[in-house]
Amino acid sequence: LAQLFRPLDMLGMVYREIRQGLIDMEAMFGLVDTPAEVVDKPGAAALAVAGGAVRLENVRFAYDPERPILNGIDIDVPAGRTLAVVGPSGAGKSTLARLLYRFYEVTGGRILIDGQDIREVSQASLRAAIGIVPQDTVLFNDTIGYNIGYGRDGASQAEIEEAARGAAIHDFIASLPEGYATRVGERGLKLSGGEKQRVAIARTLLKDPPVLILDEATSALDSRTEADIQETLARVSARRTTIVIAHRLSTVVDADEIVVLEAGQVAERGTHAALLRMGGLYAEMWNRQAAEREAAEALAAE
Ligand code: ATP
Repeated sequence: LAQLFRPLDMLGMVYREIRQGLIDMEAMFGLVDTPAEVVDKPGAAALAVAGGAVRLENVRFAYDPERPILNGIDIDVPAGRTLAVVGPSGAGKSTLARLLYRFYEVTGGRILIDGQDIREVSQASLRAAIGIVPQDTVLFNDTIGYNIGYGRDGASQAEIEEAARGAAIHDFIASLPEGYATRVGERGLKLSGGEKQRVAIARTLLKDPPVLILDEATSALDSRTEADIQETLARVSARRTTIVIAHRLSTVVDADEIVVLEAGQVAERGTHAALLRMGGLYAEMWNRQAAEREAAEALAAE
């Protein structure tokens, strides 16, 4: 009988992976309309993960054929490295992440993970390999323990607590009268933006994916919370291939490579220092944001 149930368990797992992925994606991108369904090739094999190297070759994409969004993007993120994607609003940053998750199919070029075209592998295995920390995490009306455990089917309480420690939210949870059994969500305890992000980080730690997509929050957390979260994220992304969709440049300074997208193309690429020296679009964005930060700080000090 156990043998009969094993495939059902597997199905349950696959379903969970996909559901979680979709929820994360919806949260990440505020998607309302469901895109045309991307289907597995018949007999698609599972992605064989080596280190999680991500490569985009001449990637083109358009939601609407009349209006191209990405016009030939080349990106190479070696296993374990961090790439930050920056650029003006509407440049296509989130679109890149959606394509990597195969939420949409590229219209030209290809995306490879460890040398395998993502169209050739099963979506379940692709999505199991990618963790997403969205801007705004969806919490279920359930306990905080359940909400963290959602990162991996069958996670034990000890594993959930370890993940919470890794995301630096364990002490907070332990201080609640009902601890991990505290109900959160619409009908429970309301978590702050920073706490919700930590729940997302803890879920990701449980899932332990080789590839990580971080969608940096646009909504400002206070600078102390932000610095704390940044430090936690740096630890989480240390051994993983990480792609950061960055809205504030202050968080991309340490990325191994920064790609500046503009009008669907890579306008500039390099390290923070190299891009500043270049004195182009990135330097301009950096100087503008630095001026804004100073103005905000001056205002706060008044
Ligand atoms: P931001 O920094 O503002 O989040 P972004 O660089 O992430 O912007 P994308 O969200 O990738 O930009 O959007 C790129 C372009 O694609 C935009 O012009 C947007 O209007 C368009 N777009 C995004 N999603 C869809 C969709 N589902 N259908 C049609 N067009 C879309």
